Amino acid sequence: MTIKKKPSGPALITLQKVEKHYGDYHALRDINLEIGQGEFFSLLGPSGCGKTTLLRTIAGFEDYDSGYVMISSKDMRGVPANKRPTNMVFQSYAIFPHLTVLQNVAFGLRKSAMSKAEKTKAAEDALEMVGLKGYGHRAAHALSGGQRQRVALARALVLKPKVLLLDEPLSALDRKMREQMQVELIKLQREVGITFILVTHDQEEALVMSDRIAVMFEGEIVQCDDPEVLYRKPKSKRVADFIGVMNFLPATVREEGGKYIASVAGLGETEITGEQCPAGVPLGEATVGFRPETLTLLYEGQTATHREAPATIEEVVYYGDMTYYDVKFEGVDKPVRISMRNIFGRDVLDVGAPARVSWSPGALVVFGAGE
Ligand code: ATP
Repeated sequence: MTIKKKPSGPALITLQKVEKHYGDYHALRDINLEIGQGEFFSLLGPSGCGKTTLLRTIAGFEDYDSGYVMISSKDMRGVPANKRPTNMVFQSYAIFPHLTVLQNVAFGLRKSAMSKAEKTKAAEDALEMVGLKGYGHRAAHALSGGQRQRVALARALVLKPKVLLLDEPLSALDRKMREQMQVELIKLQREVGITFILVTHDQEEALVMSDRIAVMFEGEIVQCDDPEVLYRKPKSKRVADFIGVMNFLPATVREEGGKYIASVAGLGETEITGEQCPAGVPLGEATVGFRPETLTLLYEGQTATHREAPATIEEVVYYGDMTYYDVKFEGVDKPVRISMRNIFGRDVLDVGAPARVSWSPGALVVFGAGE
């Protein structure tokens, strides 16, 4: 998507060695992060991994045992949430149904020293920012889910925070509305230019929206990279499996005359480079990973661009624009998924039919057997 941009400027938020326990439970483990001015940053991970705890720690709603949280180079320990240059948009929109849209937005300014006219103007400006110009007089209870979400955003933006913290803000919306709001949020973030930190367990949402993503498991950040690096070069099988679909095949890796050779079950031998091994070259037992879109089923008479392997079709799942084929390579029990775009309509391939699969050695990612 072209509307994304790279973050610029120095770190606005720095976390160093942040640790937190809830009783015996280790909720945040050695968190080290730098988030830039104007960056769209996501915390991504499965339920219970500590994303919300980390966001609330930055917001000042949560204490931490040790380490540092700094915003604009100032140590935030002991600084209450309402004195931090952050504002949070919650999962539940917390819109007051008995107030108008404008009153809901102006609510954020209730403690400000602004005059009533200034507050109204600021609230109207914030509504315009989120695409709700002219909606101020409407009753909040009569809004759609997407509109409520925008009111919640306007209420957070009206305070002109340096950082907007978003805790699963789109999870209550249906799929279409969510996709629409994702694009709107990216545009909004670019327009207002402030740092957004988003908590999500939806990997697709994180990939679409973020400049950078921190992947968390069990209170720990296991990889922090831009979406493409996370997708193409996941540092572990676990990250690879969490971000999209990745096929895995057992392999062995050896060094021969200064080159690395991988012998991959079902595919055969191929040279690999250190670049393809995000956690270092695993000599000996290894696992090779590859995304479904890096494989192609060959038509009769078609030759492979790189390499070819014989297989059998196990399952065919039609998705309209795509078809997923699960195939079994010779000598491998576990099926491998191939995704093919249905550009000119669907080719009918029967379950049980023999197939030829084109694969590219450069698309392989090589992990240690235990990584
Ligand atoms: P979800 O996506 O489900 O919201 P999350 O990744 O945001 O999950 P957190 O809400 O940060 O996870 O919770 C991390 C862990 O800490 C969970 O195991 C949770 O049960 C625990 N936890 C969170 N808040 C508290 C609390 N106040 N007291 C005790 N344990 C807590």
